[in-house]
Amino acid sequence: MNFENTLAFAQQLDADDPLKYFRQQFLIPQYNGKDCIYFTGNSLGLQPKNAAKEINDVLNNWATLAVEGHFKGSNPWMHFHDHLTKPLSKIVGCMQDEVVVMNSLTVNLHLMMASFYRPRKQRYKIICETKAFPSDQYAFESQVMFHCLNTDETIIEVKPRSGEHTLRTEDIIATIQQHTNETALVLFSGINYYTGQVFDMKTITQAGHEAGAYVGFDLAHAVGNIELKLHDWNIDFACWCTYKYLNSGPGAVSGCFVHERFAKNKSFPRLAGWWGNNKSTRFKMEKDFDAIATAEGWQLSTPPALLLASHKAALDIFEEAGIDKLHQKRKTLTAYLHFILNDINQKNNKNIIEVITPVNEEEKGCQVSMFMHERGKEIFNALTNEGVIADWREPNVIRIAPVPLYNTYEDVWQFGNIIQSILQNN
Ligand SMILES: *Cc1c(COP(=O)(O)O)cnc(C)c1O
Repeated sequence: MNFENTLAFAQQLDADDPLKYFRQQFLIPQYNGKDCIYFTGNSLGLQPKNAAKEINDVLNNWATLAVEGHFKGSNPWMHFHDHLTKPLSKIVGCMQDEVVVMNSLTVNLHLMMASFYRPRKQRYKIICETKAFPSDQYAFESQVMFHCLNTDETIIEVKPRSGEHTLRTEDIIATIQQHTNETALVLFSGINYYTGQVFDMKTITQAGHEAGAYVGFDLAHAVGNIELKLHDWNIDFACWCTYKYLNSGPGAVSGCFVHERFAKNKSFPRLAGWWGNNKSTRFKMEKDFDAIATAEGWQLSTPPALLLASHKAALDIFEEAGIDKLHQKRKTLTAYLHFILNDINQKNNKNIIEVITPVNEEEKGCQVSMFMHERGKEIFNALTNEGVIADWREPNVIRIAPVPLYNTYEDVWQFGNIIQSILQNN
């Protein structure tokens, strides 16, 4: 498509957008009496209007039915989880039996590592990306120390080449091959939170398996954003939070994928709790854990009904919109953003904005990370004053994520327009 950097062109793209009505299903924060330009859906997605209703239903059932609410009422809590697995299986590309909603992300990362990181004398290393999200780094380090191993020798980080911001798949593969007989686990994010780079999960998984290691992914920035085929890519496990692109609310409940190879294996090692036990005998309160032969077999505790409710509200919107249509719009929306940023550099005859997120389609999702070579903080502050909600990372990176469910082409155009007017008025 031939883009133009004009308001009229952006508005025409919005008018032609088949998903334009979905914005109305969200509550948009206000600034000076108008909608904010909200670009931090990669950090906390906006509130779906139906979240309050779903949460209120749980509160009402609690008020009127109390303990009976587990089995009675509009949406008995005992079966609430079943509403979530189908939409999620479409979003992450797996079978319904391979997905479970429980706990929060870092907790699930630890639970998955309890199953998939069981270092032995020869095979004990973890291969991961450098500068992983801090919580993940702490999880890896503490797991290694938990097994009385030395973190420096055990955690192998793949780094960008000098002068580059992102990782090359060939370097990831080479590192895995270099540590073939010693690697217990390859654990990457699906998308690096800082650069926005999408990793080639299929290729990494294949290389990890060839090295005899398990392979898992933290999909915090990938789920609800890019196309995922966890089952077909043969990934062993994955986990994600649901408050970013999945719009399920602050601290919302997390999700986990366990490939059926392991999900069906009731004797696969895990840390267990009563909610992972065979449903037909769970309430007999007997000795000897009998795992559910699905990803649900990793559940520990009674599910948090209030959190499942807001998660359901959000997933209902994904169901209605259709994940494929969302991917289509995401691609055009980010392409438009890349075009606008390029245009600003051209108008100013220099590379003021260096996009560090890879440009090629397979390596990027919604997020664009911009390394500002000039006046970064000034531009960021001006954007904030104009009601743009973006994210600033030291030393000079602005991260924004236009998301297809509620952002518009006009949002993207306005963003560029504000930057360009600052650059013009030195
Ligand atoms: C957002 C994010 C987290 C946050 O973990 P919580 O346990 O939900 O606080 C962890 N890892 C990555 C990669 C993230 O992007």
